[in-house]
Amino acid sequence: MEVHNEVDGSGVPLAVLLKRELCNQKVEKPDILFGEASKSKKREDFALLVANCHRTPGEGPGDNAGGDDTISMFVIVDGHNGPAAAVYTRENLPNNVLAAIPPNLTSEECTAALPRALVASFVKTDKDFQTKAARSGITVTYVIIDGWVVTVASVGDSRCILESAEGSVYFLSADHRLDANEEEVERVTASGGEVGRINVARGAGIGPLRCWPGGLCLSRSIGDTDVGEYIVSVPHVKQVFLSNAGGRLVIASDGVWDALRFQEALNYTRGLPAEAAANRVVKEAVSSKGLRDDTTCIVVDILPPEKLSPPLKRHVKGGIKALFRWRRPSDELSEEQTDNGCFEPDVVEELYEEGSAMLAQRLNVNYPTGNMFKLHDCAVCQLEMKPGEGVSVHGNMPKHHSRVNPWGGPFLCSSCQVKKVAMEGKLHL
Ligand SMILES: [Zn+2]
Repeated sequence: MEVHNEVDGSGVPLAVLLKRELCNQKVEKPDILFGEASKSKKREDFALLVANCHRTPGEGPGDNAGGDDTISMFVIVDGHNGPAAAVYTRENLPNNVLAAIPPNLTSEECTAALPRALVASFVKTDKDFQTKAARSGITVTYVIIDGWVVTVASVGDSRCILESAEGSVYFLSADHRLDANEEEVERVTASGGEVGRINVARGAGIGPLRCWPGGLCLSRSIGDTDVGEYIVSVPHVKQVFLSNAGGRLVIASDGVWDALRFQEALNYTRGLPAEAAANRVVKEAVSSKGLRDDTTCIVVDILPPEKLSPPLKRHVKGGIKALFRWRRPSDELSEEQTDNGCFEPDVVEELYEEGSAMLAQRLNVNYPTGNMFKLHDCAVCQLEMKPGEGVSVHGNMPKHHSRVNPWGGPFLCSSCQVKKVAMEGKLHL
């Protein structure tokens, strides 16, 4: 199933965010209820569940009386070729994510900054892991909930789906299996990788599409130091804004999705609280296909605070309505909000989506994000540099991108620049 899509990710205009901020002052943060289940075969999967942590590391509970700077993080990591990358990522990626979010942001500013922070922290984690000289790699599906905004960064083929309160289903993660993603096959091939199936007699190929050398079925991952550098760690990022009716997230590794269709998985969760729902999904996946792979599932309910009930309706109106909905014109929404006294319709609005593997496109400096990140810190690893020391991320852009200043920021330190060039398949040209 093709779920990868490229949408220009310039985000929502600040004016709309500010207008929404005014509206949202009347709406409290949602209640977040969650549960996790896992059946392990190779011990290479792990799930991470962090509710209501401070965005600024080091701040203890109660430092911010309103709790406005708290976010929740739910992560599924699915490893292959050993547990080293999974263990390293568990210990480092969440801290790298928090360190990449500029301090002292409002919730709305954080929404604008998160896509870039997630790209930087995924690439930094991958780059740092390369120095460990360990094989093994992982897929990552990283979900951040900040108020009613859900941001999902993904590499690989674990999935996150959202069912809104009205019963529409949204895919919030990408599918980076080469079999399912032609655009990625083109990118990998253009960067010097060879994509094909395992050859048997007379040239017939069997099994899924793989990238050679290495034979990985995925085009993006963290780790995998023994395959080409065009298997990149730049995540697909999608960001949606839920109405205050809320919704349910199901995040699971391919052990679940190889056994259950999306609608099946959702049906199994119906009527169950989060933990029981996650258990049911894993149990059904294992009983349908046997325990052939690590099988992990997190279920997260984003619920209106009690005052804002009615509770979630639990029926399906339209089945899977849309793989990706295009962002609605933002002006339309703001008018709607004004006209209705900030009433939010029961819809999920897409705020941002971008899947490009090119760092020059992902480390954007569009207003307002450009003002939040320090210009002279390395845009990937956050190393402090002196003016003039870094290399512009636009440095080796082809001529048709000349409207961006090749000497302008953001800037990369020398080792992150090497990483960038390697990911573009240009290191040995
Ligand atoms: Zn750097």
